[in-house]
Amino acid sequence: MGKKPSPNAPCPCGQKVKLKRCCLALINGRPAKTPEALMRSRYVAYLLGRATYILETTHPEGPQFRTDRRRWLAQITDFCRATTFVGLEILATSDEETDPVVHFRATLTQDGRDASFCERSLFRRHNGQWKYLGPADQGIGSGGRAATRSRCPPSAL
Ligand SMILES: [Zn+2]
Repeated sequence: MGKKPSPNAPCPCGQKVKLKRCCLALINGRPAKTPEALMRSRYVAYLLGRATYILETTHPEGPQFRTDRRRWLAQITDFCRATTFVGLEILATSDEETDPVVHFRATLTQDGRDASFCERSLFRRHNGQWKYLGPADQGIGSGGRAATRSRCPPSAL
């Protein structure tokens, strides 16, 4: 894991706002107003190693939700330590009320090798707050409609 950015530095999610006024405010408890905002804050939580936030913003009905909280936290923490978070790009968002999609590209390296990936993530509310449901391509959500969306651009690395 690289050096932690200062709360006054520009937010690593790519918005031209200070980290403390952008994703860090969400990680510290402010509810995300949109799925995109939640997506950005989850990326930054990974970058900062704030594993608890990843658990708390994963929808209990999603395929990545685990009941073994301790083991899940350890896995996320290992991933955070092994990964350098180079950048996030939001490629597309949908504003459907039912399971909206955020299509993003995360540029990552692990051991100096490119570990970047794109995902069309589904989001769903739980107790009134946006949560990450899971990747749209794994047959969850409402009927695979996201599968025909734009292809990912080639890696910037
Ligand atoms: Zn941010």
